[in-house]
Amino acid sequence: MCSTQRLTTSELDRGAELLKLGGVVAFPTETVYGLGACAFKPDAIAKIFQAKGRPSDNPLIVHIASASQLDLLVEHVSEVAKILIAAYWPGPLTLVMNKRPEVPTVLTAGLNTVAIRMPEHQVALELIRLADSPLVAPSANRSGRPSATTWQAVIDDLDSRIDAVVCGEPTRLGIESTVVDVTGEYPVVLRHGSITQEAINATMSSKIGPTATPASMNVESSDDGLLKRSPGTRHRHYQPRAKVILYSHDEIDSPFPLPASVQERVAWIGLEPTNHLMHASEMSRVCGSIEEYAANLYSFFRECDNRHIDKIYCQSVPKQGLGTALMDRLTRAAAQ
Ligand code: AMP
Ligand code: MG
Repeated sequence: MCSTQRLTTSELDRGAELLKLGGVVAFPTETVYGLGACAFKPDAIAKIFQAKGRPSDNPLIVHIASASQLDLLVEHVSEVAKILIAAYWPGPLTLVMNKRPEVPTVLTAGLNTVAIRMPEHQVALELIRLADSPLVAPSANRSGRPSATTWQAVIDDLDSRIDAVVCGEPTRLGIESTVVDVTGEYPVVLRHGSITQEAINATMSSKIGPTATPASMNVESSDDGLLKRSPGTRHRHYQPRAKVILYSHDEIDSPFPLPASVQERVAWIGLEPTNHLMHASEMSRVCGSIEEYAANLYSFFRECDNRHIDKIYCQSVPKQGLGTALMDRLTRAAAQ
């Protein structure tokens, strides 16, 4: 493929034209940048897997801009899905539903379900409308790397591998959507995100009563059933080239690990800095809230790689609210 076109947000008609011709075009959403292709063009979808180096058993999320596009993908919308759609669409919530037979197998990696989201980002919505098709859009990064939250990060990973990138603003939320299976009696969170488990529980309870939120729906990522239901969770994810070390603030009273050698280049990101950490780190980012931590994590990882950092110390956060999603990403980034 020849060089990747840089499009402004006023050139979406050009992006849509490329998509209609079976091309792949990256674009901003409120979560991370997505790599788009028309959902009913299997050859274009195959190009996405190739450009990302994505394992073929990891299904894609389809992005829609209207209720009529939902009808192209599923025959039936369950009561649970209707409640969550009313509460959270457009927004960073992906729903896994039973698919229509026409939805390409390459898109769902052979599953009989399809993951769907209506983004709230105006550029994303407009591109989908102009392409006149639902768009598959996994994160626009090489597989395994931190997701791209800026168009420059898309170029760093995918230049010359994709047709175009829409050069919008850095993304607002910075971590991927919450993925929820709504094929059963209760919603089951398969991947944590900005729409929290607590918010989903509260929405369900307010509509159906407390029985709608049994403890069993709090599926942990290590759960065997989850791995089968959400194949993507088994792959390596979100990893910079630097080694990520996750530590708890309580450990700071004990001697904090210093660089093994003076040659080792160290960075730090978290909520509560200490003089010791700041002193040892060549780069550091103090975040004022968990939201800010999540929004900045991937761009910080990429900046560390650009500056040849060896080790990134990341402060762990309590697993509640958005902290659950942030800890999921940090734990995967730190996995060997
Ligand atoms: P990405 O687009 O790279 O952020 O990843 C998409 C996520 O959605 C992965 O974790 C997939 O496993 C998950 N996903 C996509 N389609 C399905 C599906 N039909 N059933 C369960 N999980 C899905
Ligand atoms: Mg991804």
